[in-house]
Amino acid sequence: MLYFDHAATTPPHEEVVKTVAELMRRHYGNPSSLHKYGEEAGQLLKRAREVCAAALAVKPGEIIFTSGATESNNLAVKGAALQYASRGRHLVTAATEHPSVFESCRQLEQMGYELTVLPVDEEGHVNADQVAAAIRKDTVLVSIMHVNNETGRIQPIHEIGPRLKAEFPKVLFHVDGVQSFGKLPVKLKDWGIDLFSLSGHKIRGTKGTGLLYVREGVKLSPLLIGGGQEFDLRAGTENVPLIVGLAKAVRMAAEGRERFAAAASGWRDIIMEAVRQNPALELNSGTEAPHIVNFSHPAMKAEVMLHTLELLGVAVSTKSACSSRLAEPSRVLLAMGRSGNAASGGIRISFGDSHTADEIRQLALAIQEMTTRLKTVEVRVQKVGFSAPRRLNEARD
Ligand code: PMP
Repeated sequence: MLYFDHAATTPPHEEVVKTVAELMRRHYGNPSSLHKYGEEAGQLLKRAREVCAAALAVKPGEIIFTSGATESNNLAVKGAALQYASRGRHLVTAATEHPSVFESCRQLEQMGYELTVLPVDEEGHVNADQVAAAIRKDTVLVSIMHVNNETGRIQPIHEIGPRLKAEFPKVLFHVDGVQSFGKLPVKLKDWGIDLFSLSGHKIRGTKGTGLLYVREGVKLSPLLIGGGQEFDLRAGTENVPLIVGLAKAVRMAAEGRERFAAAASGWRDIIMEAVRQNPALELNSGTEAPHIVNFSHPAMKAEVMLHTLELLGVAVSTKSACSSRLAEPSRVLLAMGRSGNAASGGIRISFGDSHTADEIRQLALAIQEMTTRLKTVEVRVQKVGFSAPRRLNEARD
C-alpha cells in the first residue's frame, strides 16, 4: 500500500524517532530544575529554539513551542483577541480556513466579538484589496492561511501582510503556515507576519509538537497559565525530547524545501494529467502548492473513489476525516462555489519527501484504472434506467 496522505500526517523521519527515543531515555530532566538534569534539558530546549528560529529567520525569543498547530492557531487567534480587546473586538478571516482558526473565531463571536468571513473566488483565493476593505477601526486581527490543506491553493500572504503593515499597522496578522512550511518560501519579516503557526507532524516530526512564532512586541493572553514556561505564554513542563525532534524536522524541512518542491511539483503535474484523462473528474486544485492534488466526481461518492483506489494499493483522503453518509460537504469546496455533490466528493492526494518517481507512476496508473472501473459503474447505473448523477447523489444524501 502506498501512502499519499501527507497533508493529513507524515511518517516521522527515522532520525527524529531515534533522537526522541534517545532523549526520553537519557534527558528526562525538567528544564526548570536547577540541577544537572534540568540544566541539560534546558540546554537542549534552548538549542531547539535556536534551530527553529534560524529556519524561520527570526529570533529564538519569538518561538513558542506548543502541542501542535491546533493549539498554535487557538493561541494566536484567541490570545490576540483577548489581549487587545480594549483596542476593538473585530476579527477578519477567510471562508476556507482550517477549523482550528475558523472555530476559534466563531467561539470569539459567541463571546461578543464581531467576525468578517471573507468569501473566496472560485479558485479559493482572497486578495489584499478585499482584506483591506474589511478592516475597521475596531479590527484587532486578520487570520489568513498560507496554503489550504484541502486544495493546495495559495493565498497572497506576500501582498496582504505588507498592505496591512502600510495601511493598518495596529492590526495583527496571523498566518497558518502548516501546509506551506517546507514546501514554499516563507518570509515572516518581509511579509509583515506577526503570528505564524506550524505543526511538527506535517513535516515528518512527531504528533503533539508545533510552534507559534510571536513577533517581538506582540502580546498574547495565554490559554494555559501555570508555571510560566514558554515566556509566560504556554505553561506546562516542556516536552524536551519531542521539541528536539520538532527542531530536527523543522531544520530538515527548511533545508530540503527547494529539492522537495521541485520534485513534488513534477509529481503533481503528472497526477493532474492523470485526473484530466477522465472528463468526469473536476480538479479543485491548481498548479499552486507542489504537494496537493484535489478532485471531485460530481456524481460519485468520495468514499467509492477512495476505496477503489485503496483496492488498487494507494491510500488517499476524502476532504473530511469523517466518511459517514452524514458527512458534511467540504466547507472549503462549497466556499469555492462547487456544487453540494462536488463538495461532498473531494479526493485529496498529497505527497511527501519520501515518495519516489516510481510510486507516482503507480499512483497515476491507479487513477487510470479507477477511471475504467468507475466508467463501468456509470454505464451499469445508466442501463438500469435512471440518471447516474442524480441516483448516486440521492443515495449519498
Ligand atoms: N492548520 C492546517 C492548515 C492543517 O492542515 C492542520 C492539520 N490538519 C492544522 C492546522 C492542525 O494541526 P495539528 O494537527 O498539528 O493540530
